[in-house]
Amino acid sequence: MSSRVPITFDRYLLYSETKEYLHKVAAGYPDLCSLNSIGKSYEGRDIWALTITAGGIASASEKPAIYVDANIHAGEVTGSMAALYLIDYLLGNYGTDTSVTNLLERVTFYVLPRINPDGAEVYLTTPHMLRSSVRVWPDDDTQELPGLHRADIDGDGKILQMRVRDDNKGEWKVSSKDPRLMVPRQPGETKGPFYRIYPEGYIKDYEGEPFTVHKAPWGLDLNRNFPSNWEPGIPGGGDYPAGEPETHALVRFIVDHPNIGAIQALHTAGGFFFRNPCKYDESKMDPQDLTATKAIARQGTKVTGYPDVKSPNSATLTEWAYEHRGIIAYTTELWNRYERAGIPLEDVRDKSDPDKFPGEFEEISLKLLEWNDRELSGKGFIDWTPFEHPQLGTVEIGGWDRKFCVQNAPPHLLEEECRKAAMWIMKHAAALPWVNITDIKVGDIGGCLKKVTAVVENWGYLPTNITNKAVQLKVVEKDIVELIPGPGVEITGKPRHETGFLEGYISGTRSPAKSAVQVSWVVKVSPDDSPPPSVTVEYRSQRGGVIRKTHRLKRTTPGNDRHLTKPDQDT
Ligand SMILES: [Zn+2]
Repeated sequence: MSSRVPITFDRYLLYSETKEYLHKVAAGYPDLCSLNSIGKSYEGRDIWALTITAGGIASASEKPAIYVDANIHAGEVTGSMAALYLIDYLLGNYGTDTSVTNLLERVTFYVLPRINPDGAEVYLTTPHMLRSSVRVWPDDDTQELPGLHRADIDGDGKILQMRVRDDNKGEWKVSSKDPRLMVPRQPGETKGPFYRIYPEGYIKDYEGEPFTVHKAPWGLDLNRNFPSNWEPGIPGGGDYPAGEPETHALVRFIVDHPNIGAIQALHTAGGFFFRNPCKYDESKMDPQDLTATKAIARQGTKVTGYPDVKSPNSATLTEWAYEHRGIIAYTTELWNRYERAGIPLEDVRDKSDPDKFPGEFEEISLKLLEWNDRELSGKGFIDWTPFEHPQLGTVEIGGWDRKFCVQNAPPHLLEEECRKAAMWIMKHAAALPWVNITDIKVGDIGGCLKKVTAVVENWGYLPTNITNKAVQLKVVEKDIVELIPGPGVEITGKPRHETGFLEGYISGTRSPAKSAVQVSWVVKVSPDDSPPPSVTVEYRSQRGGVIRKTHRLKRTTPGNDRHLTKPDQDT
């Protein structure tokens, strides 16, 4: 047994630490995993992919596979840690935990914990928030323009909010129930104090109000750069589909690994899974594909508590995965502080808008602050603190910790979130096809001729094509079964047969599924006596894996004609 590589899930690893961990793991478990760079980021960092499977890495491409990536969005670093947790969990429990061991015997995991290493590094080492790529996109280049630019002006390492007293124009007032909470000023209210709220920052070329409040300069969104329903002008979409080095590398990797039938893209925040279809109504999706997508998600809900939600987004990895590759894919939005505070997600979705529902907004916000005081010792909300602003005079800086409370789990709650993700990914992996050669029979048909009959079955939930979409798109080749003769054996007809696809038990609820196939060959066994004759049955399925079984043939002996002989030795 290899010894586990130490890692803790109570902090967020930098790029160098992530890379070091992955290299240690690859060195420590050479029989179970291998590490490869699949390409370089915009700033030249490697994008690492760890391949994990049991039975030798050479077999990885011959098993059905799940692809797991994280952190395409710079700040969604909980996803990175969840991917590392999955790696630690699989490797650390192989050989001792039956479900992990069985899964690694039949499935390959491709895990890419940090696919946007540049963005994550800015997020983790500077006060800045950014959406995704660090490449300043032409439209975003606002840095030299007059107006408010986000910056950590009080030097506490965070970019928070500034509340600025303005009893005339102020849109906000302090809640009477908690002095930290800002609530909207209501029509006709004239008795202040009232405040304006700005992002923390400095104002270039300040000449009094009004001034423009600029967004962060990085608006390019790698997860709107995939070649599915991409169009010019899609917010953050980039210059052309898969035009960024990171997205290009991912598309290449997935296309180059046709055994991938499951995709998990780890994001934050939300506490739900985005699923397909994205652009059109569910009624237009293939019914079996939709059933599978929803049923697998339900298994995820059981282990995470998170529901599935139809995604409204286009040009994402997971939309492309289904629409162009016919792969069942989820964008898993980890972590939700409202959920942790016991506030129903429907309330958050419907009633947390301060303009439309000021009363409900105040109630929800108070519950969040109570949770913050109770569970986070108050650290999730930085109290308003006076500061002499170079342009605005006295302001107060404070607000929610956007990085490690709003967008990501606070460090002491991170491990639980990582565990949920890993359990969900294992459920998804367990739904992949599971092909077995269950029987090889040999019958003597006279002289030196024998009939070899093999039965191949899929014991998995999903069919070997994964989705009907994949068949429609012609992106998956039909399964093939082939008889490979050993020494002293000759096949009299075609050695290879196309078998189509093996259904999974998903399709058999109304009548038994066609999840087995029986194929026969006639072989001629040479009468001389050395070496012992044998045949190998090989079933090749792009998404269901490759499986082989060798069967030793008995030589025909008098009195044994036309009787089916039981397999005497399978290997
Ligand atoms: Zn995201």
